[in-house]
Amino acid sequence: MTVEKFTPYDSKTIHRAPQWGRIPEELREAVTVVAQVLPFRTNQYVLDDLIDWDNLPDDPIFRLNFPHRTMLDPTDYTSLRDVVADGDKGQIALHVGKLREQMNPHPAGQQTHNVPELDGEEVLGIQHKYTETVLFFPKAGQTCHAYCTFCFRWPQFIGDDELSFAAKDAQGLTAYLARHREVTDVLITGGDPLIMRTNTLARYIEPLLEPEFEHIRNIRIGTKSVAYWPQRFVTDRDADELIRLFERVVAAGKHLAIMCHYYHPVELRPDIAQTALRRIIATGANARLQSPVLKHINDNAAAWQELWTTGVRLGAIPYYMFVERDTGARSYFEVPLVKAYEIFRDAYTSVSGLARTVRGPSMSAFPGKVLRGRLR
Ligand code: SF4
Repeated sequence: MTVEKFTPYDSKTIHRAPQWGRIPEELREAVTVVAQVLPFRTNQYVLDDLIDWDNLPDDPIFRLNFPHRTMLDPTDYTSLRDVVADGDKGQIALHVGKLREQMNPHPAGQQTHNVPELDGEEVLGIQHKYTETVLFFPKAGQTCHAYCTFCFRWPQFIGDDELSFAAKDAQGLTAYLARHREVTDVLITGGDPLIMRTNTLARYIEPLLEPEFEHIRNIRIGTKSVAYWPQRFVTDRDADELIRLFERVVAAGKHLAIMCHYYHPVELRPDIAQTALRRIIATGANARLQSPVLKHINDNAAAWQELWTTGVRLGAIPYYMFVERDTGARSYFEVPLVKAYEIFRDAYTSVSGLARTVRGPSMSAFPGKVLRGRLR
């Protein structure tokens, strides 16, 4: 298989991408303006293999990955565009700061809620949300191979330390878990933990395989790399090492679940994406599919049906359909709850029993996940 070099682009470098010239001027302006507020990152694989450039602006991955004018209120967009055109950095920062504040950067108490303490000190980079589950945010995993414009973790990507709550090392995590025998599950999340090199990831995971942490039965890793950079599991120089790490976790008797964030079936169509999923599953890990339901991206039952059906064929387990959180460009992506329910129902009733492991629509809130009533 060809070894591709990972080539990211941000708002300052996107004009170097071969596809930049195919984006109409009005959409390019929106990238420049809106990316002042919401973080923007894409990469060459997304541009080459996931976006259909004959289908702009409606292509779902283009909508998912590129900032759009209507992600801001029309008046805010115009005034920000004018300030950006003037080029006064102080004014731009002031404007951008105000707009970000209006965007509810920490929905569901993301930064302050469920942060545990040890000997009276907050343990940074950990959330203890459910009795049995601890969420862990390693500092080196707080970015992604590309950014989604709806992302509820967007404050972590804008370089504002006050908005970042990640852990520099695993010591706080292991000290906390050693005293909390009721915890059985650790979810390593980000950003995307699989942006880390394998040896860095191993430093966080391997301590949990020691006998002292026998009570940790399930290790989950949340990742979008399966969609945005499947080379991570196939051709990256430490891809085989990553696969071996997964095998070691499974051999240690843990249940390893890779929480695969696919938002549209196109992300599972390239050969390399399918190979990545197969390699993950061959380690003995579970691959579970999850996604929010998003306007412009996947607000139709056919998309979910294809996603779950392809996933099952490759050995993955459909897991969750989420409702988008109240943050960032929420109004651009929001799907009314009734419609979300109908999409879920129509997709669920059109797939075989093997795909009906999925739950949804589910909403994250202060108490945890809130789920709609059961479907027969
Ligand atoms: S991959 Fe996940 S964490 Fe990263 S930008 Fe997208 S939704 Fe956010």
